Amino acid sequence: MRQDGILVYGQGGGGYNADQSYWFTLSGSDMKRVEELINQIREFSRARDWEQFHSPKNISMALAAEAGELLAEFQWLTEDASRSPDEAVLARIRDEVGDVFIYLLDLCDHLRIDPIKAAEDKMIKNAGKYPIETARGSARKYTEL
Ligand SMILES: [Mg+2]
Repeated sequence: MRQDGILVYGQGGGGYNADQSYWFTLSGSDMKRVEELINQIREFSRARDWEQFHSPKNISMALAAEAGELLAEFQWLTEDASRSPDEAVLARIRDEVGDVFIYLLDLCDHLRIDPIKAAEDKMIKNAGKYPIETARGSARKYTEL
C-alpha cells in the first residue's frame, strides 16, 4: 500500500508493489538510496548473467562468507584495538560491511523481506527476551537470565 509516496509494509495484506519492486517503509532520501542500491545490485547481477547463481541459498552462503571476511579483520586484535582500528584496517572493514549489506539486501530482495521491518520486529522480540530488569549488565543468553 502506498501512502504519500511511502510504501507501507504489512498493511492490507501486501508488502510490495504490484510490479514487485519495493516494499520498504523508509521514506525520503533513505528510501531513495535503498531503492537505488537494490537497482544497482539487480543490474550488476543481470549484466553478468549471475541471476542464475543468486538463489536464496547461495546468497545466504555468500552473506555468511562476507561476514567471515568482516570477522577476519578483527581476528587477533585486542579489545582496545578493535575499537580504534587504523585507517587501512577501517577501510577494509568498511568494504566488508558493504559486502555484507549488499548480500543482505539481495537476499531480502529475492525473498521479498523488508529488512527494516524485520529488524524493527526483531527489536520488539529482543526487548521481550531481554527485559532491562533482568538483562542489564549481563552478557548471558535470554534462556539463562
Ligand atoms: Mg568481501
